[in-house]
Amino acid sequence: MIVCCANQCAYCGSSIVSGQRWVREKIYDPALNGRAPSYHRYHAEPFALQEGSCWEKHQMEQHSRPPATVLL
Ligand SMILES: [Zn+2]
Repeated sequence: MIVCCANQCAYCGSSIVSGQRWVREKIYDPALNGRAPSYHRYHAEPFALQEGSCWEKHQMEQHSRPPATVLL
């Protein structure tokens, strides 16, 4: 049985089961100009024996890099 990846976590790649908390992040892609926005989903709660959730780890990776764009 093939399950659609609509509820797949963009960080760890595993599916987000109903009942789990998750976070939706809008993808800012210039190529999507004028089209419907797409979203990445991340687990919002850490797995057992892990320190941070997929969302928190994703945020840390984002913040460890300089921002791609600066809005004034
Ligand atoms: Zn995940």
